[in-house]
Amino acid sequence: MSQHIFPLRIPTPFAVGDVFCYLIVDDKIVLVDCGYYAEESLERLKAHLGEQGLQLGDLDEIWLTHGHPDHFGQAALLADRSGAVIYGHPKERSNFAGNDDRDLFRDYFQSQDVPEELVQQMLDQLEWLQQYQQPIEPEWVREGDLLESGRISVEVKKVPGHAPGHLLFDTREGVMFGGDLLLDNISTNALINFDPDTRQRNKSLLQYRASLRWIAEREGQVLPGHGEIIHHIREVAEHHLQEQEKRYAHIHQLLAKQPMSLMELARRLFAPSIEQGAVFLALSEVLGYLDWGREEETIGWNQRKRTYCKA
Ligand SMILES: [Zn+2]
Ligand SMILES: [Zn+2]
Repeated sequence: MSQHIFPLRIPTPFAVGDVFCYLIVDDKIVLVDCGYYAEESLERLKAHLGEQGLQLGDLDEIWLTHGHPDHFGQAALLADRSGAVIYGHPKERSNFAGNDDRDLFRDYFQSQDVPEELVQQMLDQLEWLQQYQQPIEPEWVREGDLLESGRISVEVKKVPGHAPGHLLFDTREGVMFGGDLLLDNISTNALINFDPDTRQRNKSLLQYRASLRWIAEREGQVLPGHGEIIHHIREVAEHHLQEQEKRYAHIHQLLAKQPMSLMELARRLFAPSIEQGAVFLALSEVLGYLDWGREEETIGWNQRKRTYCKA
C-alpha cells in the first residue's frame, strides 16, 4: 500500500461489523468512504485524523464507493465542517438521498405475495437506517473519470451488484479501493435495488457476478470496506462465484421437486435468518438466483400462482 494511504477502522451498529475508510494524505486530504452518521463515528474519525496531525477542516475531498450508511452516512456533516467536495455515482442517487424507493419495494414485494407484516418489517428497517445517514447530493463521477489527490490518481470503475452505482477506485498501480465489491470471509449480498432512472428492479446478482468476473482478472490488492486487505484477488472472487454456482444448482433441485413462491424458497433456505429479522437479505439472496434462472430460461414463473418452477 502506498505510504500516502491509511486505513481507518470505524465500528458500526450493523451486522457487518467495523467499516474501513481510507485516508489519503497527499497534496489533497481525501477520504475514501467516511463512516455512518453518529457521534461515536465522528469521534473515531477525528481521533484517526489526529494521529496524522489533521483535523476535520483539513478534508478536501470525499470519494464514495456507494450509498450505504456505513460508507457515506456522515459525508454531509464532514462536508459541512470542512468544505470537502463529495463524489459518487449517479445510480446511487436514491441511496444518497435517503432511499425514496420505499413505494417500489412495497409494490414489488406485494406482487410476489410476501406477507404484509414482513413487508412492513422491511420498510421499518429501511426507516431505522435513516438515523445513521444524512442525505447528500454529491458531484457525479462516471466510469472512466479520474479523481486525483496529487501523486495518486484513481480511475473510476463502475462495479454494480451490491448497489446499483457501486464504484471501485483504481490507482492503476496495483491498489484498488473496493468498497463492498470484494470481501474476504464476509458474504456480500447483491441487494434488491431499483434503477433510479428507469425505476425498474435491477438484476443485481447478475450485475454482481459480472463485477466479480471483472475483478477476478485484476492484479494487485483490494482495500475493502470490511475485513482484511485482499491480496489474492482471483482466489477470493472465484470462491464467491463458485459458492453462487452451488446455490444456483441447489435452488434448481428444490424447484424440480415442487414449484415455490419467492417467500417459500426463502423460508426453505434461510428460515433462522428470517426468524431473526433478516428477511430483506434472505429475499435478496433468493431473488438473485431466480433472476439468473429466468435469464437462462432454466426457471419459469407462473404469474397466476406466483410461483417459480424448473423450466
Ligand atoms: Zn454496502
Ligand atoms: Zn459495507
